[in-house]
Amino acid sequence: MKKLKSLKDIDAKAEIAKLKNENCAEDDVFFQAMEEVLLSILPLFKSDEVFQENRKNSVIRRLITPDRVIKFKVVWIDDNHDVQVNTGYRVQFNNALGPYKGGLRFHPSVNEGILKFLGFEQILKNALTGLPLGGGKGGADFDPKGKSDFEIMKFCNAFMKELYKHIGPRIDVPAGDIGVGGREIGYLFGEYKRMTSAFEGVLTGKPAFFGGSLMRPEATGYGVVYFTRKMLELEGKESLEGKICTVSGAGNVALHAIEKLQHLGAIPVTCTDSKGTIYDARGVDLDLLKELKLNQRVSLETYIKSHPEAQYIPVSEYPEGGHAVWNIPCYAAFPCATQNELTAVDANNLIKNGCESVTEGANMPSTTEAVHIMLKSDMCLAPAKAANAGGVAVSGFEMSQNAAMIKWSFEEVDARLLETMNDICENVASTAKEYGVAGNYVDGANIAGFKRVADAMLAEGV
Ligand code: NDP
Repeated sequence: MKKLKSLKDIDAKAEIAKLKNENCAEDDVFFQAMEEVLLSILPLFKSDEVFQENRKNSVIRRLITPDRVIKFKVVWIDDNHDVQVNTGYRVQFNNALGPYKGGLRFHPSVNEGILKFLGFEQILKNALTGLPLGGGKGGADFDPKGKSDFEIMKFCNAFMKELYKHIGPRIDVPAGDIGVGGREIGYLFGEYKRMTSAFEGVLTGKPAFFGGSLMRPEATGYGVVYFTRKMLELEGKESLEGKICTVSGAGNVALHAIEKLQHLGAIPVTCTDSKGTIYDARGVDLDLLKELKLNQRVSLETYIKSHPEAQYIPVSEYPEGGHAVWNIPCYAAFPCATQNELTAVDANNLIKNGCESVTEGANMPSTTEAVHIMLKSDMCLAPAKAANAGGVAVSGFEMSQNAAMIKWSFEEVDARLLETMNDICENVASTAKEYGVAGNYVDGANIAGFKRVADAMLAEGV
């Protein structure tokens, strides 16, 4: 059997170079995600003959090129009757395993590169769930902050007026992401229905009283904690009970990760938003946090009005090149806000302070350098595409319930979520072992996800 010695042998670097020539700087995060995966899957190319045929079947080139990128103008009228123009996108990346599936992000930073990175990650994440789901992602450079409810509705309506042409329950099923929660999904679903006259499972994350799955809001955060619990057990480490945990973010994923950590007797002591960090040594007051972030939608700074003993650290006081939240000693850390929020400086601080486990709740929250540092240490590192797959798994359950016109109870969904997260964790751990990288959950997740998608692509021909 031919031995492969470096990435050159599988042409991965050549593939990236080719793509870099064709793309712009916006694609940096996409290349970061792609490079990590391509480096990880080397052991697969060394041992599996079918993948050594890569030159002939171009499976890598086919996987890293989206099926299509839809880009469109979104025109809407604000409360002052001024016309506003935004850009909307849907990246339909790969449907080898099922309909395109992935969230919509509304944030001023959204561009094609970010959505390609998220869509690419989504392919492998969805594959890890074992469900029939392809990968995609979408969104707009629209900033929901400070907008009235009416403006949010007008924007969602205008966005869906174009998107509806490209999606469908068997084609592409979007969900929420940053800036898109139950309220936005409700408006988007309403407009889809008005445009098509069809009441069908075209979006997931719908409110539970008209087709949404119970537990979808909780699913990603709960799943992150279920995964961590299993990983610590498999790696022979102490459980989360009674342990100090640090969490970043104060949105959907972070709030529910904090909630599940509290259920398990852990003590989450932090949360963050884009302006600063709260450190509450006695444990985060979750009811207050939900009130501030879900109802009042205000900055975290207001938390200390109710808890003056807690500490608020504004972004201007963060350590150079790092984030205040990762400087706080903890047993387990949960980055749940956004991409590249945990740097090399942060990774070194976590290790120095005795952190035993990092679980990525957000998509690609750790920089490449931080991942390398953490993998070289004794800590466990749970990569996003495995650890935060609970959200899309329950979205898959929502699609099943919609198709069958049935509704599962909260307990039933929770039991299926727990089983799914444990299965993903065991699959990732055993894949890592099989390919000679035991304990490396990053490589294990990339190999297991890639293999399932690539097998389907090869079986479906060109
Ligand atoms: P939300 O919009 O609910 O919350 C995001 C949180 O992160 C907010 O607290 C926000 O602060 C903060 N944040 C966003 N951007 C930045 C930034 N540039 N710098 C610092 N803080 C920032 O999003 P979700 O909780 O849904 O998503 C969080 C992460 O999890 C994302 O990476 C998303 O892709 C990923 N994810 C989400 C899933 C889901 O089911 N929701 C599923 C799988 C992954 P502020 O309030 O100030 O904006």
